[in-house]
Amino acid sequence: MAQVLHLHRLVVDRGDETTPAWRRQAACKGLDPGIFHPDEEDVASVEAAVAICRGCPVRQSCFEYAIASREPDGVWGGRTARERRREIRRRRRTA
Ligand code: SF4
Repeated sequence: MAQVLHLHRLVVDRGDETTPAWRRQAACKGLDPGIFHPDEEDVASVEAAVAICRGCPVRQSCFEYAIASREPDGVWGGRTARERRREIRRRRRTA
């Protein structure tokens, strides 16, 4: 899990000029990455992460990033891994 948390931090903002602009505006910047990797069965923790994403100005970019890169875990763009898998299947059906 530690690697996953570290990855989340790196992907959201690497802290240098190689970080895409949208990631610099992330509402989760500076927060504990663990917030965004709750147990999916822990509804309160998932909702806490989703609530932060809901107010994030780059939520859609984050969501599309997670879909495109097939992020396997965590809340990205306000959606859980399960919700993203469902979205990927939906897009395949409508492609
Ligand atoms: S949508 Fe959520 S995980 Fe993505 S950058 Fe914004 S706060 Fe972070």
